[in-house]
Amino acid sequence: VVVYLEPDAGPASSASSPGSADGPADGPGVSLRVDDPRRPAILVTDQGLTRGDGVFETMTAVATEGSGSGSGTGAPFRVRKEDSHLARLATSAEALEIPLPPAPAWRQAAAAGLDAFAAGNPGVDAVVKLVATRGPEGAPGGGHYVRGAADVGSDGELAEATEPGLLAPPHLTGTYWVLVSPVSRGLAAARERGLKVLLLDRGVDSGVAERAPWLLMGTKSLSYAVNMAALRYAASQGADDVIFTSSDGQVLEGPTSTVLMARRIPQQDGSTGIELITPLRSSGILPGTSQGTIFAAAQAAGWQLGYGPLEPSDLVDADGVWLVSSVRLVAPVTHLDGEEILQDPELTELLNGFLAEDREPGEHGP
Ligand code: PLP
Repeated sequence: VVVYLEPDAGPASSASSPGSADGPADGPGVSLRVDDPRRPAILVTDQGLTRGDGVFETMTAVATEGSGSGSGTGAPFRVRKEDSHLARLATSAEALEIPLPPAPAWRQAAAAGLDAFAAGNPGVDAVVKLVATRGPEGAPGGGHYVRGAADVGSDGELAEATEPGLLAPPHLTGTYWVLVSPVSRGLAAARERGLKVLLLDRGVDSGVAERAPWLLMGTKSLSYAVNMAALRYAASQGADDVIFTSSDGQVLEGPTSTVLMARRIPQQDGSTGIELITPLRSSGILPGTSQGTIFAAAQAAGWQLGYGPLEPSDLVDADGVWLVSSVRLVAPVTHLDGEEILQDPELTELLNGFLAEDREPGEHGP
């Protein structure tokens, strides 16, 4: 199922009146149109297609067997970490200066898509992909982005709901849609088998994000061709996945996932503590919503949290290494560059439990 977010016609079509999350499905500013994704709908001049010039998010929705709660429209789904995904979509869109419909419109589009999806797929969990592109080349009104339009408050709502004049982009000139599809069953199998991972050079150093913001490091842009090419390269070498390294030798992230590692640390009282570590966010990686929510739960469970810089040797010496993402969840790494590394099924289970707690993510770290 696809739901298009279509800006209402005319210059008053700014996102200044998003309506409330509980309001009508198509509040002022943006109308929702539910459609069949097999029907062609995107112009061939859309810069999301011709240049990968856009942003996206992928979140999951858990079918909750008729509980009737979650989406706000009665669909039996709980969308996981929706606030975090909407906040990151807004951050990415701001980095690319793409005006974005307000958060409530995205929420309503996701709920409408899930409603329609549930009718044909009862009880099936869904992947919900949110996409915003720069829109067709030469569209009237393009390029009037107002910086700050994508500010998100602590509750995940766009700040423009309270200060429309100041923050709203003058025109929503992009192309916006939400695609709802079934969760692939193959992912669970891969999760259980574990992952053979290749370390691949991303070709940039760990300081590039700060030095060269135009490279859009750490934003979830549609330009994922390089990430997909890295995965194909890994497959050609008999591996399942990739961990990118920086040219100065730091561990970065997977093409579609965040790297986590754990160390068991002997305590003075004879017990064993656990330290959970993820690479430095400032090294130009995407702040993972799964990492954030897992860290919040791990902290509540008394684990120590750590942030890189990490080197490949740290992964080799760890008590466990995982790739985590919203769709794949927590998948253990079994091999690095062909060498088997330590695995800890107990920790894998604990981490998946932490992710399932769906806590508000804490800090992503430095
Ligand atoms: N890093 C990259 C490059 C990604 O594309 C993704 C998700 O697709 C992640 C990390 C994991 O992010 P999340 O946990 O929010 O799904």
